[in-house]
Amino acid sequence: QRIQRTYNFNAGPSALPLEVLEKAQKELVDFRGNGMSVMELSHRSATFEEVHNEAISRLKNLFSIPDNYEILFLQGGASLQFSMIPMNFLQSGQQAAYIMTGSWSEKAIKEAKLFGEPYEVASTKDENYNRIPSLSELNFHDNDAYVHLTSNNTIYGTQWQEFPDTGDVPLIADMSSDIMSKPVDVSKFGIIYAGAQKNLGPSGVTVVIIRKDLIEKGNQQVPTMLKYSTHSKSNSLYNTPPTFGIYMLGEVLRWVEENGGLEAIEKKNTEKAKLIYDVIDESNGFYKGHAEKDSRSLMNITFNLQSEELEKKFLAEAKARGFVGLNGHRSVGGCRASTYNAVPYEACKALADLMKEFQQANQ
Ligand code: PLP
Repeated sequence: QRIQRTYNFNAGPSALPLEVLEKAQKELVDFRGNGMSVMELSHRSATFEEVHNEAISRLKNLFSIPDNYEILFLQGGASLQFSMIPMNFLQSGQQAAYIMTGSWSEKAIKEAKLFGEPYEVASTKDENYNRIPSLSELNFHDNDAYVHLTSNNTIYGTQWQEFPDTGDVPLIADMSSDIMSKPVDVSKFGIIYAGAQKNLGPSGVTVVIIRKDLIEKGNQQVPTMLKYSTHSKSNSLYNTPPTFGIYMLGEVLRWVEENGGLEAIEKKNTEKAKLIYDVIDESNGFYKGHAEKDSRSLMNITFNLQSEELEKKFLAEAKARGFVGLNGHRSVGGCRASTYNAVPYEACKALADLMKEFQQANQ
């Protein structure tokens, strides 16, 4: 008999597919007949290497990643990428463009300031980051080392719908909260990076997809562990990698494949988000979406009620009914439903029903 799973709308770490958890549970103490867990295997063993390379090739296939890109599995989260990127690619006195769409962009530019002269482009901070700037608002300087953006703003619930063309200047994207939710043309980017803990698996692994020519161009006067070339030369096995996390990542990717790949996942995510956005839009202002409609995220749905008191009441009611993770981020308040890949349609339907019912009882 299947256990009753919680309606988990956590922003991260977040829900994982039940099928993946059940498979991992089955394999936990005897992985592929080795008489030990995948966690107990040497990271230099042929069995682990197979797991590692399987995860890389699944990622390559799902995104159709061209051969001039390398896939790295690093540690330190997306937050360490905020530092590694300027450390490797921004020289003192050099400029880089940071498109400012939320707190994670702010954290990223803060680190870049330690190494060079990053500047802000098209910040929507004055509008409490409720939208993604239009392409015509992006005024880049000449000679930028790179352009950095956050593809999905986990806290504000906004998401890029179309990426800018930056020509020869490498475009670098923090895709932590929407990677694997839809197809992406990797060839438009110099680097894509993402902490795993939303759509990819458990926390502890950071996926970096990097164009090969950039790896060698990077500043070599950087500590060994913080240089992309170190990890590239050793297929991300320079030191002990987070082996269990990489195994889980591979299993999540297998699940995405088995569920029809990225087009199918995007279709499902669109249907799930629509259930909740429709309730917001049809509520006559009882629920108010934070993001402007054309910037809405399929992954994080942010909304407010008419007063903090009503929000508290709604969140208490949701909690009592078994919904988890609906509180807005502490910096914006209100409510947020994170509807990542592994959140089932039924959970979103249940939330939409609860919202309608709550409105009827409280307006
Ligand atoms: N970037 C985005 C868009 C995020 O949502 C997060 C975490 O929620 C981070 C970066 C930070 O990631 P990590 O905790 O892996 O350092």
